[in-house]
Amino acid sequence: MIGVLALQGNYQKHIQILDTLNIRSMEIRYPEELDSINGLVIPGGESTTITDLMNRIDFFQTLREFSKEKPILGTCAGLIMMAKSVPDSRVEPLGIIDIEIDRNAYGRQIHSFTDKLSVKLNGKESQITATFIRAPKITKVNDEVEIISEYAGEPVAVKQGLHLGLAFHPELDKVTLFHEFAFKSQFINETKKHHAA
Ligand code: GLN
Repeated sequence: MIGVLALQGNYQKHIQILDTLNIRSMEIRYPEELDSINGLVIPGGESTTITDLMNRIDFFQTLREFSKEKPILGTCAGLIMMAKSVPDSRVEPLGIIDIEIDRNAYGRQIHSFTDKLSVKLNGKESQITATFIRAPKITKVNDEVEIISEYAGEPVAVKQGLHLGLAFHPELDKVTLFHEFAFKSQFINETKKHHAA
């Protein structure tokens, strides 16, 4: 069972992607619901609003604990929330992926765009369509973080441990790759390794 944080923003489309993959899902609105799930999607939206709502019900500590054992996939505002450092005092990031984010780096002109991206996951390269909406820029990537996709020479998708962070919205282009990897493939591989050992 995978949860989709449903405090604000674009969570329905993530549920549809999980349905496509035959992964059972539930909407998460309270910290105690994290006990019922094996992984979490933090969707896009507005990171300042997500920060306010998470503070109201004391989500931060529970989510940080959750991330020590279970995978989180963050897209756009979700990526901002997962970062270690966001130089904007209205956002309180969780510090799950060791990157720095500039929320509004693309400026006002380039609000959104869709383009092709190449992604390297599991040693396999895939071509996907990616839609960026008021996308954040990853301005610093520390050593333990793997860059799995770049756009125009800048990192736009990263992986650290079990977690994935994306500057774009895979759910808008029906891209299932990341949800599948975060919540299925990496565990299947672990089990195989285990059996082989
Ligand atoms: N710019 C938004 C923020 O700062 C993110 C946009 C999105 O999630 N599509 O939170």
